[in-house]
Amino acid sequence: MDKFIFIDRDGTIVRDTVYLHRLEDLEFLPGAVDGLREMQSSLSAKFIIVTNQAGIAKKLYTEKDFHIFNNEMICRLRNAGISIAKIYFCPHHPDITGECECRKPKPGMINQAIKDFGLDPSLAIFIGDKDCDIELGQSFGAKTILITNGQYEVKAKPTAVAKDLIEAARLIGTHT
Ligand SMILES: [Mg+2]
Ligand SMILES: [Zn+2]
Repeated sequence: MDKFIFIDRDGTIVRDTVYLHRLEDLEFLPGAVDGLREMQSSLSAKFIIVTNQAGIAKKLYTEKDFHIFNNEMICRLRNAGISIAKIYFCPHHPDITGECECRKPKPGMINQAIKDFGLDPSLAIFIGDKDCDIELGQSFGAKTILITNGQYEVKAKPTAVAKDLIEAARLIGTHT
């Protein structure tokens, strides 16, 4: 059976420049492309990106900028043999747009994926570099992997910790 992997974008797949949106800043993290490819081949993984994009609420960039960036990223991944099933994003920020149901660790994006894919999130794996990514996965009873890029302090207790997606791909073999 296909394994659904909910994966964060910034700081997990690509370098997080904070409010990342410019194409010239698009840079895959070390091991990211190889790690994704490994998960795809060994687990038949289907990747669903879930990303908070408060920069849109803060008007630091537009939703169009976000899509242009994603299209380029998806294109480069496709050229490397990796397919991304879907990207969900939260364009809100509580201070500006009020509370929403989609900003991680809120469940909105996952609930939408359940409707769109008919998947069971408790059987998925959640991968990300922040507390919100781990808390989101845990709220659905799923296994979680924290990518430690050293950028953020993390208090959550994931199922496993990896320094990059290559290591995460290896760990998934032993934790699933
Ligand atoms: Mg992140
Ligand atoms: Zn939202």
